[in-house]
Amino acid sequence: MSENRTAVIIGAGIGGITTAVYLAKNRYRVSVYEKNSAPGGRCGQLIQDGHRFDLGATMLLMPGIYHEVFDLLGIRLEEGSDIIPLDNLYKIFFNDGSCLEFTSDKERMKVQLEKIEPGSFEKSQEYVSRGYRIFRLSIDKLIGRNFYNIFQMVNLKNIPLLFKIKAFTPHFKYAGRFFDHPHLLMAYTFQNIYVGQSPFNAPALFSMVPAAELTEGSFSPSCGGMFSIVEKILEAAKKEGVQFHYDNPVRQINISGKKALGIILQDGTEIKADIVISNTDLPYTYRNLLPDRRKSVHLDKLKYSCSAICFHWGLDKTFPQLEHHNVFLADGFRRGLDQIFSDKSVSDNPNFYVHAPVRTDRSAAPQNHDTLSIIVAAGHIDKNYKQEWDKIREKTRLAVINRLKRQGLKDIENHIKFEICYLPENWENACNISRGSVFGSLGHNIFQMGYFRPHNRHDKYKNLYFVGGSTHPGNGIPNVLLSAKLVSERILKENPTEK
Ligand SMILES: Cc1cc2nc3c(=O)[nH]c(=O)nc-3n(C[C@H](O)[C@H](O)[C@H](O)COP(=O)(O)OP(=O)(O)OC[C@H]3O[C@@H](n4cnc5c(N)ncnc54)[C@H](O)[C@@H]3O)c2cc1C
Repeated sequence: MSENRTAVIIGAGIGGITTAVYLAKNRYRVSVYEKNSAPGGRCGQLIQDGHRFDLGATMLLMPGIYHEVFDLLGIRLEEGSDIIPLDNLYKIFFNDGSCLEFTSDKERMKVQLEKIEPGSFEKSQEYVSRGYRIFRLSIDKLIGRNFYNIFQMVNLKNIPLLFKIKAFTPHFKYAGRFFDHPHLLMAYTFQNIYVGQSPFNAPALFSMVPAAELTEGSFSPSCGGMFSIVEKILEAAKKEGVQFHYDNPVRQINISGKKALGIILQDGTEIKADIVISNTDLPYTYRNLLPDRRKSVHLDKLKYSCSAICFHWGLDKTFPQLEHHNVFLADGFRRGLDQIFSDKSVSDNPNFYVHAPVRTDRSAAPQNHDTLSIIVAAGHIDKNYKQEWDKIREKTRLAVINRLKRQGLKDIENHIKFEICYLPENWENACNISRGSVFGSLGHNIFQMGYFRPHNRHDKYKNLYFVGGSTHPGNGIPNVLLSAKLVSERILKENPTEK
């Protein structure tokens, strides 16, 4: 009977648990096996001494995509109560001590931008409206749809489209058509780091990110940080009867002929299923969980996103100089990015992001204390380079602290009660992310997107599917939610259940 169709999902990241709800709502019996003791993966949380940290994701962007997917799953997400719009998307601090409050409030932007570069406000409006058109077009034609064959992407009709969405123009060069001042060029392109790439190489397609931020705004969960989003999805999954098994690493996907029979756990237990879905990093899945190594050798040759060094600090004092989201941009932008992407290290004068959740959610720290997470982009693990991560960590920590001191947080170092640090190798171990390339892991150039990104179904084993940041459409929670929607639609289309 179709009601008994079973699906087993490897990994309880956002991609895995969202797919679980979709399938369970469509009469699949779903079980999820997760290697860690808690769900969430890169959207997990850490709690120590009353301080709560978002492990990875901190920004709720592109709320329209959350609504689209949550509405389909019957998950409530009310703006104003569950998620709160932020007045400032983030505050940008430049090396010379000046600041720019990035906001969707046009009047406030106008005053600030005109001071930096006369005439730039009008140009910024054009940049944003074009970028938002690219966003909508990409959602329709590239990001928000399944590709079943190459001709759906590569055809005569789509060639002008690829130019329209600026798939072949470098982002930084494109921004130069709108702005001259180095601060504005940085402010409108640094968002490429969200998907682990440099604006000097990434396509101007990604101008859609600041455009979507400035058009749709940035939100913060009212309580519990980004993990509260995971909790909402989990609640829906449990209501639909999904079974979760934590501390259960999967050792292998069990294959026979052209079919996946199920999975084999670390302890040797076999779990049978009609459909297998892997939410684990895709190159890791091909390399570690599947028998055929050919595809894995091919995946090794692709371009990978950068990694990140994260410092999570519990502090015994609050620092009012910081807002909820803070971005520190340094001079020597290009050189700094080259140190990450070409030298596979960290910039001597790093750009970094500081998350200060207590500004909007008191529950993130004990009273009068602060919880700060610092994220610094770093080169991914590469055996061809001499990467002494302990030295790199010390150098980066010192650079961050010195920069914060220059911004007026003079005594910050004395108030750090404890520190939890994630280096690229910690990311690799924590979530099995190849090379610690946490933003993807595969990069997002046009030749690794759409039909060209590793597909969400295995080419040979037709009942083995993939979901998450390294398959179609890409990294970031909005993309991963779409990935879950798209793979679920594909599974239901290819394996219909009786009504
Ligand atoms: C530092 C950082 C900051 C970020 N900031 C943002 C942000 O502000 N906004 C945003 O939208 N996105 C952000 N992201 C991206 C976002 O966190 C990810 O895109 C998203 O969480 C990835 O979800 P996923 O389901 O694809 O993968 P994962 O979260 O990696 O989930 C995969 C799961 O599979 C499990 N697993 C792996 N191997 C096995 C195995 N063998 N057996 C069983 N289980 C296994 C892992 O433990 C993990 O739980 C950020 C990421 C990082 C790292």
